[in-house]
Amino acid sequence: MNVMDLDQIDVDAPIFDPSAFRLDEAEAELNALARRIGKARFAPRAARYDRDATFPTENYKDLHETGLLAISVPKEHGGLGAGFRAYATTAAEIGRYCGATALTWNMHVCSCLWSGPLSDDLDMDEETRATHLRRRAKHYERIVRDGAIFAQPFSEGGAAAAGVVPFSTSAKRVDGGWIINGKKIFASLSGAADYYGVLCGEMKSGERPSRKDTMYIAVPATAEGVEVVGEWDPLGMRGTVSRTLLLKDVFVEDDQALMPRGVYYQAAARWPHMFMTLSPTYLGIAQAVFDFTVRYLRGEIPGTGPEKRRKFPTKQIAVAQMFVMLQQTKALWFQAVSEARADPTKEQVLRAYAAQYTVMENANELAQLAIRTCGGQSMLKSLPLERLYRDSRCGSLMLPWTAELCLDRIGREALYNPGETDD
Ligand SMILES: Cc1cc2nc3c(=O)[nH]c(=O)nc-3n(C[C@H](O)[C@H](O)[C@H](O)COP(=O)(O)OP(=O)(O)OC[C@H]3O[C@@H](n4cnc5c(N)ncnc54)[C@H](O)[C@@H]3O)c2cc1C
Repeated sequence: MNVMDLDQIDVDAPIFDPSAFRLDEAEAELNALARRIGKARFAPRAARYDRDATFPTENYKDLHETGLLAISVPKEHGGLGAGFRAYATTAAEIGRYCGATALTWNMHVCSCLWSGPLSDDLDMDEETRATHLRRRAKHYERIVRDGAIFAQPFSEGGAAAAGVVPFSTSAKRVDGGWIINGKKIFASLSGAADYYGVLCGEMKSGERPSRKDTMYIAVPATAEGVEVVGEWDPLGMRGTVSRTLLLKDVFVEDDQALMPRGVYYQAAARWPHMFMTLSPTYLGIAQAVFDFTVRYLRGEIPGTGPEKRRKFPTKQIAVAQMFVMLQQTKALWFQAVSEARADPTKEQVLRAYAAQYTVMENANELAQLAIRTCGGQSMLKSLPLERLYRDSRCGSLMLPWTAELCLDRIGREALYNPGETDD
């Protein structure tokens, strides 16, 4: 099926109805494209990637072919020009059909959002900005022209990915570039990415490492000293192929910096919604779980027998509970992603934590309810529900905004203003 034929397929109803949620035309079109490609191509392949724990390479070819690989590359550079909400709502639609594709696509798209619209909102002197604009033009070209795929390894197994201490992966300044050393765990897209967008700390001689010196640098997968190690046989999100990345004395040229010095630290403080970009995948899973449940209880899932289970009042109540939970989740999340911007108010930041927490926890709770309500046959591996259930489990543990850390921050930041103590 080519791209034109995608227009012919019978798409599912949108997660966010464009007129009800007042999406702009570009958002509505991107969401519709994601639904078409998701239903026609990603959904039929999802079980195989999950079973084999392999990267959805074919899906990435489709993302390139349809332009979605460059969704957040500005139009003047040949991309689709999507801002934060346009990307997030589109990613939710992809997550409905293949969680692993949506989650890994997030790592890739962040390389464009962070170096693009986020960086545009942040302070830089004129020279720094000019250099950044020149460098990111090259970055965009690799995606648009060559279909280059970017991973985003920042997790190290310690407190750095939680945003508490500096990254222990180090970048040392040398003539013409950087020497990078370190180890990243859960590097999604390992072995499949063309570049690893590595978060690391600049080593300055005579100074203690500081989070202010965090760098975001694209390390080519083919660079000497880059190695992917370890097994990958997890509970869920198996197609993400999140293995361990070792970086040993890797030389990277200056122009591979995706953000100038100091800008990642500024972004983390001033553009906190940047850490919400993993949530769309799980919103899509939540919607997929609900859609499956309704179709299953109506007897519409092929191969599940003639029984229409919808007549039982207990099942109707469960579906009602699921609908309420899904609507609460969608409404809060949509509000939070609509508020993403530089320097949000305190309430907007707390709402973003609340939205992230709600999506990640509710996706899994909805999947649990769905299995209980649909019954034993629904969790057979021949049906997508058991994959949705396993995939949904991983959302709450994604750093830096795990479900626990969101609660931790809401509690503290609601009760204390910056700098306040009880002493
Ligand atoms: C399918 C999948 C794909 C992933 N893909 C990526 C990826 O592409 N890139 C990437 O960088 N990461 C990725 N991750 C990793 C993820 O974001 C987390 O970093 C990882 O799950 C943390 O595992 P851990 O065992 O180190 O967790 P934990 O031990 O829970 O957390 C690590 C450290 O964070 C701090 N911490 C955690 N919770 C708290 C708390 N409540 N209070 C205070 N401190 C706390 C502690 O210092 C703790 O030692 C992925 C994870 C999964 C499951």
